[in-house]
Amino acid sequence: MTAVRAAAPPRFTDAREALHTVFGYDAFRGEQQQIIEQVVGGGDAVVLMPTGGGKSLCYQIPSLLREGTGVVVSPLIALMHDQVQALRAVGVRAEFLNSTQQADERAEVERAYLAGEIDLLYVAPERLSNEATKRFLERGTIALFAIDEAHCVSQWGHDFRPDYLALSELAERWPDVPRIALTATATEATHRELTERLSLCEARHFVSSFDRPNIQYRIVSKNDPRRQLLDFIRTEHPGEAGIVYALSRASTEKIADFLSQNGCRALPYHAGLDARVRAETQSRFLREEGIIVVATIAFGMGIDKPDVRFVAHVDLPKSVEGYYQETGRAGRDGAPSTTWLAYGLQDVVQQRRMIDESPGDLAHRRRMQQHLDAMLALCETVQCRRQNLLAYFGQSSEPCGNCDTCITPPAAWDGTVPAQKFLSTIVRLQRERGQRYGAGHLIDIVRGKRTPRVDQYGHDTLATWGIGDDLSEQQWRGVVRQLLAQGLLASVGEYGTLELTDASAEVLAGRRAVQLRTEPERASRPSRRAP
Ligand code: ADP
Ligand code: ZN
Repeated sequence: MTAVRAAAPPRFTDAREALHTVFGYDAFRGEQQQIIEQVVGGGDAVVLMPTGGGKSLCYQIPSLLREGTGVVVSPLIALMHDQVQALRAVGVRAEFLNSTQQADERAEVERAYLAGEIDLLYVAPERLSNEATKRFLERGTIALFAIDEAHCVSQWGHDFRPDYLALSELAERWPDVPRIALTATATEATHRELTERLSLCEARHFVSSFDRPNIQYRIVSKNDPRRQLLDFIRTEHPGEAGIVYALSRASTEKIADFLSQNGCRALPYHAGLDARVRAETQSRFLREEGIIVVATIAFGMGIDKPDVRFVAHVDLPKSVEGYYQETGRAGRDGAPSTTWLAYGLQDVVQQRRMIDESPGDLAHRRRMQQHLDAMLALCETVQCRRQNLLAYFGQSSEPCGNCDTCITPPAAWDGTVPAQKFLSTIVRLQRERGQRYGAGHLIDIVRGKRTPRVDQYGHDTLATWGIGDDLSEQQWRGVVRQLLAQGLLASVGEYGTLELTDASAEVLAGRRAVQLRTEPERASRPSRRAP
């Protein structure tokens, strides 16, 4: 073992000087300065700040002001690479350690670290849970630990990563090294949990507002998603850069094709594509103007493109945290931007099925269910979307005036009678005939629509046959979707068959009224068409 420890000497003595000289900025933003002072002074910090708020400087500058190397735990290898590149470009001595490296590259990084030649060292969490890595780090001098995406340590969060649990050991092993945990998505529960698990009880907490005032939030009911999406882009963001999120790889490709055929410059992006193609798409998105990337959630993390003018979802996100994180990629430059989500009955059925079939234990499924329920509540709310979103993260606010429900307050209608008609159809089929069906066939029955299946099973003899022909099929789908979202119906199994819940009995018994949002028959289909 070497007796002499070399440590990267402080490059600066003044935070503001580092801000000017290295990063070229005039002033700190928000609470950056206080956060930096806390860490430079050797204290711990928990930082909750929205995307684009400027979290990185909060550990980068202290790493330049303290003796030793700042060790940054970051879960995304692709992101690590980009950050290191960007830092090197401004003269910061940054390196990373992860599984993509060759042995000789790794050896060189290790040598430089021990020689005190590195300001910032990015490390993947699975490396840090490894005893050999920790022993190696002990041989050098650590300026601080930064734990990025710290919500990943929370098992109740939406993005749990088991490797993060091992980070609890940092506090015991390096009691004198300050630690700073950062995240852009944390509910109060997640905030508490990460504080506890990362032993940050003594830390100062810096919680900024999660509000992104320049983002307009809109959620529409889905009927013809590709067409709706195209209309939205053409009328509001023609020729502008955007990200469209879809759940499956196949649909990202279909949507990208459709948009391209209709005059947009759209490219698909998902984990099944060749790494070279993905890198090419990402770099075109960053460098060219007006590129639309149609992606699975794999895209966008850590991509710092300031002028993304819209983020669209054609499938329902699995959690409010995910939705907030993805929509947060719009408008980092502060200019007006739109987020647009189309969601429908099928989304609810599909996601419930995915939860039922998920391999995790019961607690895991319940957690996913709670995440979905919160997301549905946001979709179905008749109040301000932003208020609902911020309340989810424990922050109170006034109605914003810049979301769809503020701009056009949705009317509500009394849906008790249609709900009773629909629920009693389910009851009759199950009690009288032992049959269970999905939404489509049940809607055919209440609307009295003749189909081969109706004829085959004689469903036209049911007492509820045709009693709901006053509503269109589209309206019925809206009713069923809202009943599902309100827990007045349950969708079960592979085929999404609908069943009653305890609450539906209340509706059937006439003890509970059902309020539903009024939805335009062709929601979000503006009459004005761009050429
Ligand atoms: P986050 O990690 O919170 O999403 P970043 O650290 O990536 O945010 O910062 C977002 C953008 O804001 C980056 O382009 C960054 O360079 C810029 N930025 C951060 N702090 C400042 C500042 N004090 N002045 C000007 N620009 C800043
Ligand atoms: Zn609002």
